Amino acid sequence: VLSRVKDHGLLHTAGLIGGKWADVASDKSTFEVRNPATGAVIATMPRMRADETRAAIAAAHAVLPQWRARPARERAAVLRKWHDLIQEHKADIAAIMTLECGKPTAEALGEIASGAASVDWFAGEAVRVCGDVLEPPMRDRRMLVLKQPVGVVGAITPWNFPMSMITRKVAPALAAGCTVVLKPAELTPLTAVALAELAERAELPDGCLNIVMGDAAAIGHELVSSDTVRKLGFTGSTAVGRLLASGAGNTVKRISLELGGNAPVIVFEDADVELAAKGIVASALRNAGQTCICANRVFVHDKVYDKLAAAVTSLTAKLKVGDGSETGVTIGPLITPAALEKVTGHVSDAVSKGGKLLFGGSKPELPQPLAGGNFFAPTVIGEATIDMRCFKEETFGPLIPLFRFQSDEEAVLLANTTEYGLAAYFYTRDLARAWRVAEELEFGMIGLNEVAITSEVAPFGGVKASGLGREQSKYGLAEFLDIKYVCMGLG
Ligand code: ADP
Repeated sequence: VLSRVKDHGLLHTAGLIGGKWADVASDKSTFEVRNPATGAVIATMPRMRADETRAAIAAAHAVLPQWRARPARERAAVLRKWHDLIQEHKADIAAIMTLECGKPTAEALGEIASGAASVDWFAGEAVRVCGDVLEPPMRDRRMLVLKQPVGVVGAITPWNFPMSMITRKVAPALAAGCTVVLKPAELTPLTAVALAELAERAELPDGCLNIVMGDAAAIGHELVSSDTVRKLGFTGSTAVGRLLASGAGNTVKRISLELGGNAPVIVFEDADVELAAKGIVASALRNAGQTCICANRVFVHDKVYDKLAAAVTSLTAKLKVGDGSETGVTIGPLITPAALEKVTGHVSDAVSKGGKLLFGGSKPELPQPLAGGNFFAPTVIGEATIDMRCFKEETFGPLIPLFRFQSDEEAVLLANTTEYGLAAYFYTRDLARAWRVAEELEFGMIGLNEVAITSEVAPFGGVKASGLGREQSKYGLAEFLDIKYVCMGLG
């Protein structure tokens, strides 16, 4: 099945430790990677644990003095070469990504473009890291601030963006002069391995980027409890994030967490309803609804509810479910049978509590070999209410629930009624309302009349149970730099 990949050099069934591909785990155990569109096994990988993680941390630590001493311009040149190689191999990376994560080829190419943009942007930022000279309050002292790399970084990434969750951690880390031990999701390790192969070809020194995979809990424990690892970047579930955050306390390491979301969209009565409908469908159904900033709850003013519901339903009806590698397919499979079960549960729960099924609602009939895939039809549910699971929980599937509201206060209160605080969107043309609502929403990112908010130049991250810290942008780079104050006495 991996025959669509032209450059076979990208296909290691191995981790990477100190520049050496490690294709056998110390206890020889393995795990399988499956294509979620068919259920077929596409690769068998070494199931690594604590031993390999310790070796990877040691390799990252050994090369750290050499990497951080390289002039930023040289580190930037390596990153730029990595970026160019990613661009050159985008068709192959997209084929690998679609096979292991299911997203349609067009979305895979979009993710590769944004991941590559991160690498390029942080290459640019590498040379702009600079400290400060402070104005001292006394004559006989001089005061300076240095910015230095934090050291060895651990990165743990999820399956829903097999590339861009890696590049937004690894690129700023390398730019800052840090070295990295990466644990990609076991569901999608092949994209990570292909990226690491290209980093090697870009002449990133051995040990600067290591990859371990297999027993997530054992690897995670080793990364968290290591004194050598000075920062951990994690994207994934709030449950695992909580575990890592409490563990990181023992070694007092820096931690960035990008966790779950339960994004609201508010459509006010003065909104451009067509624009809102397009945005809602694009956001809610991106990657079959499996992104942490997907629109999860749509609140619509009573006066425009019917018009919006009709527009959302008609746009949803135009989508095509199938194998992401086929042309024209816009909705691929969900990642696992458990994910399919969750969305099925949210739909039946909503319908049993009075929700109106406006479109979809079930597993579509697809020909072999897709019958073994985790497909669910894109689904619109009207007259949703706050007692439903789709209000309280992140669905992480292709479901659009529409809730009615009457007043601005009610809409903002509904939107904020969640433990999460990642992204929120709203549609209005009223300037005063735009400011007020943007300030009142308790979320780290706000899309006003726009859902495509992610960019390498803008800070990505959340508040409340959605996480800590920011990725991308100058704020994301700062997370990989320690501040050192130097006070010089003039005697
Ligand atoms: P998701 O629901 O997105 O799969 P997870 O939090 O389970 O969210 O997975 C995100 C990443 O966290 C993956 O790389 C996964 O392997 C990893 N992970 C899962 N459990 C642990 C753990 N106990 N310690 C460290 N990492 C973990």
